[in-house]
Amino acid sequence: MAFAGKLLTRASLGSYICRTRGLTANRVHRRHVVSCIDPSLGLTDEQKEFQKVAFDFAANEMAPHMAEWDEKEMFPVDTMRKAAQLGFGGIYVQQETGGSGLSRLDTSIIFEALSTGCVSTTAYISIHNMCAWMIDSFGSEEQRHRYCPQLCSMEKFASYCLTEPGSGSDAASLLTTAKRDGDHYVLNGSKAFISGAGDTDVYVVMCRTGEKGAKGISCLVVEKGTPGLGFGKKERKVGWNSQPTRAVIFEDCAVPVANRLGEEGQGFTIAMKGLNGGRINIASCSLGAAHASVLLARDHLKVRKQFGEPLSNSQFLQFKLAEMATRLVASRLMVRQAALALQEERQDAVTLCSMAKLFATDECFAICNQSLQMHGGYGYLKDYAVQQFVRDIRVHQILEGTNEVMRMIVSRNLLQE
Ligand SMILES: Cc1cc2nc3c(=O)[nH]c(=O)nc-3n(C[C@H](O)[C@H](O)[C@H](O)COP(=O)(O)OP(=O)(O)OC[C@H]3O[C@@H](n4cnc5c(N)ncnc54)[C@H](O)[C@@H]3O)c2cc1C
Repeated sequence: MAFAGKLLTRASLGSYICRTRGLTANRVHRRHVVSCIDPSLGLTDEQKEFQKVAFDFAANEMAPHMAEWDEKEMFPVDTMRKAAQLGFGGIYVQQETGGSGLSRLDTSIIFEALSTGCVSTTAYISIHNMCAWMIDSFGSEEQRHRYCPQLCSMEKFASYCLTEPGSGSDAASLLTTAKRDGDHYVLNGSKAFISGAGDTDVYVVMCRTGEKGAKGISCLVVEKGTPGLGFGKKERKVGWNSQPTRAVIFEDCAVPVANRLGEEGQGFTIAMKGLNGGRINIASCSLGAAHASVLLARDHLKVRKQFGEPLSNSQFLQFKLAEMATRLVASRLMVRQAALALQEERQDAVTLCSMAKLFATDECFAICNQSLQMHGGYGYLKDYAVQQFVRDIRVHQILEGTNEVMRMIVSRNLLQE
């Protein structure tokens, strides 16, 4: 892209927009601007510009390949590196360490737009961003400057390692041990379902250095190639096929104490702080899929004729379309409100992020599924993108905390008062 080599920051974005204005970016963006579901509604001019860049990238660099990446299970490293040249590798990482220094709301807007081009790839980019932010926020100066620049450029890729075969929703019961031996920790145990694993370079690992429960957990950065670090087979999945998922296995894996983020016992807090943003990001990926699916449904209803007239003449389908649009806009408002709360470090941020993740991922799945229904048999064919949106966002109701866990967090907050 013409913008290659420059990061998307508040200062550098203007010139890119000037060069593309009136060309592809605007055309692509206009397609997404449909009156009542316009995703740029209420945004500042600057945010609208970020959004245009992301829509442009999604349409030109991702959408034409999303079916192939899914079918062939390709991890599109080159495309992600191009995205990183626009500043999408470390959107909310500080500029000082190579990031774009944008806000959580800016990040949500960007991930929503990118997802219209490929949910699975965008979702991996979002996990990578979360890991880079964790290192930038909790690492020492030395660690931040060692890892963040290469992560933000996506020269190196990161994975987030919390889940284990025996601990999913109850993440604080994890069993992977890290025993101190001089200036190293020796890791033993395994992690399950790790996004990117095997193909990524930097593993942000939650492991037990102390007592049972959350307070005995620490966070270590483990680099690929460390003796004793291994991987399971590539999992076969319903969606999210443009990114590999594997188990991560530690067998007497010695990691320098210098690779610990924060203090001993702080690992669970670091993991959860990462996930607060992760939940907004994954909900934003659902918004992009739902937005694209509403447009696909609308276009299909207008051209498909049954009983001698376009499907769009059916009041039942008109009402369904209106419900989809309403649910999309309600979801977006919740996600953006939570992103603002997180940015402002408000006390209610954790609960609002959980509410937004619960609501948006459930609603957006229903929207995509309804869009598939409106396509009839064609919606079930792989030639039609809507089935991929349905498959790709189904897992957003399960990961980064299941939607049942989101309900636990929300009710706990209410009952505490
Ligand atoms: C494609 C994919 C990618 C993933 N990527 C990552 C990653 O990169 N890093 C990572 O660390 N993890 C990752 N995960 C793991 C994911 O976060 C877990 O699958 C998720 O947290 C749920 O854990 P579990 O699968 O063990 O389900 P379980 O915890 O066994 O839950 C099973 C079901 O029971 C429900 N449940 C559990 N306890 C309760 C309760 N007390 N009350 C009511 N309902 C309950 C759950 O909500 C769920 O519906 C990924 C998973 C998938 C599928």
